[in-house]
Amino acid sequence: MFEQNLFDPEHLIRSGDAMKRISPVAQFATLSDRLSDSVGEVHWNLSASRDLNHRISLALELSANLVLKCQRCLGPLEYELNETRRFALFKDEDALPSLEDEEEDVDCMVVTGEMDAFALIEEELLLALPMMPLHDSESCHASSGAQEEEGELELKPSPFAMLSRLRNS
Ligand SMILES: [Zn+2]
Repeated sequence: MFEQNLFDPEHLIRSGDAMKRISPVAQFATLSDRLSDSVGEVHWNLSASRDLNHRISLALELSANLVLKCQRCLGPLEYELNETRRFALFKDEDALPSLEDEEEDVDCMVVTGEMDAFALIEEELLLALPMMPLHDSESCHASSGAQEEEGELELKPSPFAMLSRLRNS
């Protein structure tokens, strides 16, 4: 049941293979906490190569259909995630390039020995989520009609107005 998730980037390069897997969303606990429902799967493809400077670089492709939680009505919100991330690996912090030398779309990491693929994937999934997931205004309440929203009474003063009219009559 336990999937092999540790890998050595050097071995990955030498093998010439990519790690291409499908993992259940529910496996990523921190991610699941942020979701409305942890159904579905994460498709991922991790490959390693040497770049022109002989550094190890990793490419991680992620795709998943996630069910986020709308921050307005707390209802489920489907979200299609497609991300490609690139990393440059360094043996120690001294070898890290200065900030201005860093390529914009490449994350620099200090790595010695094995890496945890699941930890890397989960971190990148979390970074790729929208900060404030919201339905568009048309589908927001419709998709969760049974849920009473706090503050809804403030938004709709008309029932009170009607009530007071009845009392006064
Ligand atoms: Zn909503």
